[in-house]
Amino acid sequence: MIFKDAPWMTEELSILGDATRKFFQAELVPHVERYHAEKQVDRALWEKAGEYGILAASIPEEFGGAGGDLGHESVIFAELGYTGDMSFGLFVHNIAIHYVLAYGTEEQKQRWLPKLASGELIAGIAMTEPGTGSDLQAVRTTAVLDGEDYVINGSKIFISNGQIGNFFILVVKTDASQGAKGISLLGVETDGLEGFRRGKNLDKVGMTGQDTSELFFDDMRVPAANLLGDIEGQGFGQLMNQLAWERLMLAIVGVGVSHKAIEETVTYVRERKAFGKSIIEFQNSRYKLAECKAKLELLQAYVEKCIGKIIRNELTADEASIAKLTGSEIQGEIIDQCVQLHGGYGYMREYLVARMYADARVQRIYGGTSEIMKELISRSLI
Ligand SMILES: Cc1cc2nc3c(=O)[nH]c(=O)nc-3n(C[C@H](O)[C@H](O)[C@H](O)COP(=O)(O)OP(=O)(O)OC[C@H]3O[C@@H](n4cnc5c(N)ncnc54)[C@H](O)[C@@H]3O)c2cc1C
Repeated sequence: MIFKDAPWMTEELSILGDATRKFFQAELVPHVERYHAEKQVDRALWEKAGEYGILAASIPEEFGGAGGDLGHESVIFAELGYTGDMSFGLFVHNIAIHYVLAYGTEEQKQRWLPKLASGELIAGIAMTEPGTGSDLQAVRTTAVLDGEDYVINGSKIFISNGQIGNFFILVVKTDASQGAKGISLLGVETDGLEGFRRGKNLDKVGMTGQDTSELFFDDMRVPAANLLGDIEGQGFGQLMNQLAWERLMLAIVGVGVSHKAIEETVTYVRERKAFGKSIIEFQNSRYKLAECKAKLELLQAYVEKCIGKIIRNELTADEASIAKLTGSEIQGEIIDQCVQLHGGYGYMREYLVARMYADARVQRIYGGTSEIMKELISRSLI
């Protein structure tokens, strides 16, 4: 149990953590090799996770969820990290759920949340475009009102769950003459949707079991009733308000992954021998692992503090950015060291630590790059 000493930990959360670990061990871990070969997970994994309540931890019970809060989700994401495998695109599904929860009309919540909870809808969040990533207000996908529908033209890139997903929170310009003020969010169900097209499953350095795609929209018609919130032009503010949880979530996953990396490495250096003794008997190996543990303990203490604050709705943008920045940087440092202690085997994808190494690199890029995190943190200083 990863956050067992956290001040916000309860018996209920502890039971959830244990059950989630068992779920992932039974339903995810045995299949990861196939997921990596097929470059995406099975839809059945989503449905099982839905039955288990993992997709809907913080969806209120009236909408088919488990009625928990971000403490429940934090425990689940730490356990997902602890699998050491990033094939299951639960992060973006969860992010999309929070948009519907926070900004959806009553009708939209009734329509979408039960299906997002069961896995009938698998969600993604489509912000990034070929021409813009960090600078979100420069998106060029347009949504023009025509009768009862928006007509959407444009494209998105690097969209997680882009192959398997059938519901996307789409970032569009409802007023192309404006920057941030012209941005709106639409919920888009894609099954049978004319004008919607997926590009190929992109060939990534890591996270190879998770699908990432381009999406294309050619005169794609979406009901105007799918606008999140009732008023156009609120999308940028809506995005900014959700970023604290998205960024903290990535740090939480980083904590889980780092625990797994250290454990795997301790096991390996106990067994592997050189110069007539186990690798762990070299003082350097023990000191390097001690450094990893010390860094992880410090990171975890900060992340636990942030989780406590977000449960109380007190987490600030700069605190979330610090968690994302340090979480992704420390995760990278720890896994790099773990690869080193595995020697050549640490560079072979057959070994979990090698896959973790490739997966960890993107943590510093998506969800806001490390540079953007520093920019945001610096604003709290001046
Ligand atoms: C595996 C993967 C999954 C992803 N999943 C999704 C998804 O589901 N949905 C989605 O919408 N997007 C997704 N993304 C996109 C991701 O969020 C963007 O790649 C990221 O935000 C960076 O944008 P960019 O690639 O356009 O880089 P750019 O914005 O072009 O940045 C290039 C470099 O310039 C730096 N830079 C930019 N602006 C500044 C500045 N103001 N100050 C200092 N440095 C700056 C950046 O830090 C970076 O180092 C995913 C990306 C990957 C790789």
